[in-house]
Amino acid sequence: MTLELYLNIFAAIIGLCIGSFLNVVALRQLKGEEFVLKASHCPKCNKFLKWYDNIPVLSYLFLGGKCRFCKEKISIQYPLVEASTSVVFALLFFFFGLSFKTLFLMILSSLMIVMCITDIKEQAVFDANSYPVIILGILYNALNLGDISLLNSCMAAAAGFVFFEIVARSGKPFFGERIFGEGDSVIASGLGAFFGLKALIPIIIVSFIIQVLAGMPVVVKNMLKEKDYKSVTAIFALFFCIILAFINKYIIRHEELIYYSLGLSGLTMIIAIISTVIILKGIKERQSFTLLPFGPALIISGLLYMFAGSNLLSCLIKLFT
Ligand SMILES: [Zn+2]
Repeated sequence: MTLELYLNIFAAIIGLCIGSFLNVVALRQLKGEEFVLKASHCPKCNKFLKWYDNIPVLSYLFLGGKCRFCKEKISIQYPLVEASTSVVFALLFFFFGLSFKTLFLMILSSLMIVMCITDIKEQAVFDANSYPVIILGILYNALNLGDISLLNSCMAAAAGFVFFEIVARSGKPFFGERIFGEGDSVIASGLGAFFGLKALIPIIIVSFIIQVLAGMPVVVKNMLKEKDYKSVTAIFALFFCIILAFINKYIIRHEELIYYSLGLSGLTMIIAIISTVIILKGIKERQSFTLLPFGPALIISGLLYMFAGSNLLSCLIKLFT
């Protein structure tokens, strides 16, 4: 038990250091700089950082999120990425112990985190990060480290890519452009290669839910800016439907209230359909509607699946049925 605890603490510290490294990798990729190991410096005043200003998370807290020399604000991205990598690594050791499986999943998580940063910052997913995930995933299953066959791995790699390409291109007549970038298709392919055909379904569904929840505030903000109050109302109506569904499931659905329950379900469905039509019309009329990068939602969903496995979707289904 104590050995396991030490192992987890060790993994968390390794995660902090790797997270710090991933920050640098992502930023240098975005700037198109060759990646070489050199002392990190402040992007504004270019002064080199002392070792004690370079301790993951802690230095950020001690310096109050500002450069020691020029007081330029340091992005919250640094400690956030360091902390998340640390948590992911500790969880990997907790679930899978000291093993080759853990090593593969550590590399997968690292590449995913880098893609998350570059996608959020500049809507860019680099081939140098995304394609290796597919190869790693197939190798992972060829070495029997996962739960699926090599054939399943290869088929899921293809299926993930094809599915996202179809969805991305089907947006063309509607939005005049692809809904997702090609990077997202490659990410889905990599997740398929690691976790198999059956995993793709919960990963994709959960990623759409994450995307909707994360994107809503931005979409509403854009609609308010364009004075499209009809669409905003429709969005709130949709959320109201979710609340109604919960009320129906947890409060009303008893044998003796079955007709109320059916009536409420019908009403909820009608409101949901009308709201959806209004929102889609609003989006079609205004081409300025900006689409958020989808990669991060897909990545977070994939990482959740890495730990939860097939429980990922069943938890969600239980919530509503
Ligand atoms: Zn500075």
